[in-house]
Amino acid sequence: MVAVGARCSCGRPLAVVTRPLLPGGVPFPTTCYLTSPEAVKAASHVEADGAMRDYTELVEHDEDVKAAYEQAHRYYLAFRHEIAVKLGDDEEHIEGTSAGGMPVRVKCLHALIAQSLVMGPGANPIGDMVLERVRDEFDPSVCRCSVE
Ligand SMILES: [Zn+2]
Repeated sequence: MVAVGARCSCGRPLAVVTRPLLPGGVPFPTTCYLTSPEAVKAASHVEADGAMRDYTELVEHDEDVKAAYEQAHRYYLAFRHEIAVKLGDDEEHIEGTSAGGMPVRVKCLHALIAQSLVMGPGANPIGDMVLERVRDEFDPSVCRCSVE
């Protein structure tokens, strides 16, 4: 982990930014990693509803969504590249690979909403849609952290 990428209003991390190369030399393409248990659960519910096929179809057939999703992929790669350069991490094994199925498919909603949380609204169209959809279950502006 390099930094906390997004926090709940209570201060707990919602998503973290991870190194392109983990200790031991393991390449790790999922630079924006979702850590909030509430957000993970909400994304899993949407995935269980079979929404990935609908989102993938949207990316395939809606020109605006497609363009924005491809841009999200480029944002992701640029973001990681900057970290890799700063830390001296080798990106050889993950070059061109972003996360969540980008740029042509929707495979992991956790990865996409992690990007939306770290980079903010507008960075990833599908991540934004999923966050909107799960608002009753998870909302970055509303603390629902379980009391321990
Ligand atoms: Zn909280």
